[in-house]
Amino acid sequence: MFQRQLVARPRGSLGKIALQMRERFWEQEGIYGGISWTSQDIGQIQYPSHGFGLRKGIVVGGYYLQPGPQARFNQMSAAERLTAAVQQGEKLHPGYGAQVENGISVAWHRMNHMLGCTARDTSTETLRVLRQAEGCHYLIGDQISAHAGWMEAAVLSAHDC
Ligand SMILES: Cc1cc2nc3c(=O)[nH]c(=O)nc-3n(C[C@H](O)[C@H](O)[C@H](O)COP(=O)(O)OP(=O)(O)OC[C@H]3O[C@@H](n4cnc5c(N)ncnc54)[C@H](O)[C@@H]3O)c2cc1C
Repeated sequence: MFQRQLVARPRGSLGKIALQMRERFWEQEGIYGGISWTSQDIGQIQYPSHGFGLRKGIVVGGYYLQPGPQARFNQMSAAERLTAAVQQGEKLHPGYGAQVENGISVAWHRMNHMLGCTARDTSTETLRVLRQAEGCHYLIGDQISAHAGWMEAAVLSAHDC
């Protein structure tokens, strides 16, 4: 039962793309934190709400929550994801690409031993089974919480143990 519930547990395939920028150019545009929303696949650009006035900064250059963009981004290589994120960001901020120093993204559902994120099934029965030890095998973390996909759930799970 434990193994069946574990394998069957549906997991999300969303992702984020982090971009390290040479300069905090958005602050010159009067942006201090917050999000720019776009209908492009990147979905949004998130600006840091800390470190105001410093030279460099890291933006979330993409946070794809919808199935279509997820499928398109997840089949790309990491380099292709960065290129796509830069091209789409250019439409919001001309000159964006020239500011990118480095970037990282992960296709979580393709990562061995992860196979996804933000577990989708929060049924009480599934959680009841997975929260019980199977022999000496214990599970903790946000993936077996009813609030999957949030750090809060991971912390609460640790407290619960
Ligand atoms: C794209 C994305 C965006 C997110 N955005 C937010 C957000 O904005 N706000 C928020 O609150 N939360 C967010 N989250 C969720 C947050 O990242 C998770 O809730 C949190 O990281 C879960 O912590 P955890 O300790 O349960 O698991 P993890 O952080 O997954 O840690 C588990 C660790 O166990 C290791 N591990 C696995 N198997 C083994 C093994 N057999 N032996 C040893 N080690 C092993 C893994 O390598 C990993 O390091 C996001 C998640 C994703 C994927």
